[in-house]
Amino acid sequence: MASLSLQHINKTYPNGFEAVKDFNLEIEDKEFIIFVGPSGCGKSTTLRMVAGLEEITSGTLKIGDKVMNDVEPKDRDIAMVFQNYALYPHMTVYDNMAFGLKLRKVPKDQIDKAVREAARILDLEKLLDRKPKALSGGQRQRVAMGRAIVRNPKVFLMDEPLSNLDAKLRVQMRIEISKIHQRLGATIIYVTHDQTEAMTLGTRIVVMKDGVVQQVDTPQNLYQKP
Ligand code: ADP
Ligand code: ADP
Repeated sequence: MASLSLQHINKTYPNGFEAVKDFNLEIEDKEFIIFVGPSGCGKSTTLRMVAGLEEITSGTLKIGDKVMNDVEPKDRDIAMVFQNYALYPHMTVYDNMAFGLKLRKVPKDQIDKAVREAARILDLEKLLDRKPKALSGGQRQRVAMGRAIVRNPKVFLMDEPLSNLDAKLRVQMRIEISKIHQRLGATIIYVTHDQTEAMTLGTRIVVMKDGVVQQVDTPQNLYQKP
């Protein structure tokens, strides 16, 4: 069960800037939540607070029934995929995907199973021995996704993961992400500027502006013209 609860979440940066103001959202298990809104409206800040990469100034973050405010990022059972994913250039695809599990001292045979399963889902099986520089942009993005998947997290946070890809790859990867969502049964929060991504992937869309949630609705209701 990975329901998420964001209750009266505020973020004030050390310089006094209020980036997120009274953010409230109840996310059900397996939902695919989309954050949209102009640049600077607080989408990344909110994701980073959920991931534990940014301190919550006030308010309560829960996963299931557990308050997460003070839980270390590595103990949150959350994986994050960024727009500017950085692969380790000297490591193979396999080792890039295995790295996070090795750090967590997962047994080798379990790591192997997880990496091969992720490679199968993402169609990377034939590329496991390659270094990142021998991959296309889309393949690299799939490896970045693979690194997140191998941990089998309950919650996925994705910050414009496809925005650096060309149009054709974006369409392919959108389908991949939809499959990942279904196969892993994960709860996802996904930031995008792309209305097609928002409409095809989202169960609900959160519209933000100036650090404030303006609207929360289904894609159908939000984008339907009367
Ligand atoms: P940051 O998180 O650094 O404030 P964003 O992730 O919101 O920036 O934006 C990433 C990039 O997308 C930036 O280069 C920004 O100029 C661009 N961008 C921001 N808003 C929009 C938009 N509404 N439409 C298209 N591109 C945008
Ligand atoms: P988005 O992801 O919607 O583009 P962000 O969450 O990245 O927006 O940023 C929200 C606002 O907070 C922006 O105005 C940004 O400039 C500001 N901000 C982000 N990080 C910091 C920081 N470390 N210190 C001060 N202000 C910041």
